[in-house]
Amino acid sequence: MRDNIHDVIIIGGSYAGLSAAMQLGRARRKVLVIDDGLRRNRFASHSHGFLTQDGVDPAVLAATARAQVMKYPTVRWVSARADTAQRIESANDADGAAFEVNVGNERHVSRRLLLATGVKDILPEIVGLQQRWGKSVFHCPYCHGYELNQGQIGVIAGSAISMHHALMLPDWGPTTLLLNNAFEPDAEQLKALASRGASIEQSPIEAITGHADVQLADGRTLPFAGLFVLAHFELASHIPQQLNLDMEHGPIGSVIKTDTVRETSMPGVFACGDVARPMASVALAVGDGNLAGASLHRSLMFSAI
Ligand SMILES: Cc1cc2nc3c(=O)[nH]c(=O)nc-3n(C[C@H](O)[C@H](O)[C@H](O)COP(=O)(O)OP(=O)(O)OC[C@H]3O[C@@H](n4cnc5c(N)ncnc54)[C@H](O)[C@@H]3O)c2cc1C
Repeated sequence: MRDNIHDVIIIGGSYAGLSAAMQLGRARRKVLVIDDGLRRNRFASHSHGFLTQDGVDPAVLAATARAQVMKYPTVRWVSARADTAQRIESANDADGAAFEVNVGNERHVSRRLLLATGVKDILPEIVGLQQRWGKSVFHCPYCHGYELNQGQIGVIAGSAISMHHALMLPDWGPTTLLLNNAFEPDAEQLKALASRGASIEQSPIEAITGHADVQLADGRTLPFAGLFVLAHFELASHIPQQLNLDMEHGPIGSVIKTDTVRETSMPGVFACGDVARPMASVALAVGDGNLAGASLHRSLMFSAI
């Protein structure tokens, strides 16, 4: 039995999960990475803001990371979706298996569990928006604002939270807040928008066409270099809920609550990357995974769970 037990099962083998796997592989620990290949940024062809890799195709980043991690002989990979994960109630101390993960008919067991399962974006239902996501419609100005070359930027309002986008984006180009019946700015908000030089468009949006051309209900079409939307997010996997982990709730979505070393409310279960932080980026996911990997290693050595 002992030989079949992994030190750590990592669910989610993108930037955060692979970064943790590298730490653990370098400590010669037995790791199983389970991943079904649905990275959050799979819609984009360029990733920005990660030192040494600025502008690289995010698929190439992930493939290079995976190739580097899989050179460590104690790391195994399964390309599949993990269906369930649970604490083994009758954990056998001699074996040390504490968690089981089911992938189809296969059962895998481990001493520790890492969730790096990410989140998925819930986009507003506007004709033409989904197919332009990551290409000319974005959420993160730091990731994609610079490449708009100070051209016209449209912010599609989802609620009053879109004020945040509208006030930030003038640093990347002349900005129009497209209200789309989502909210009505009050006097103070109007003043703030004016002080940042952002203009307002009242007519609702009918569709997005061309590169990022917004067709309005009143018949006009406004062409933009790029559009930003307020995307809400959901966890990409229901395993955190299955494990009944404590969550942190924010205005656009909830993430798994962790302590400073990335351990969750269930001892022995760690979480890193977008699934455990509201502010998302590849660099932050990699840093988080690095921390979680080292924390898991210490937990294996020094903590009873
Ligand atoms: C359109 C777009 C563009 C972006 N551009 C940038 C950019 O330019 N720069 C930047 O820094 N950030 C960018 N981001 C943000 C970036 O994508 C995320 O911060 C990053 O992917 C987080 O990495 P992660 O490893 O936490 O999660 P993810 O990359 O989302 O990976 C999670 C992995 O877990 C897997 N998974 C989930 N559940 C299961 C399960 N049950 N079983 C098996 N596998 C599972 C998924 O298939 C996926 O492979 C962008 C995001 C979007 C949406």
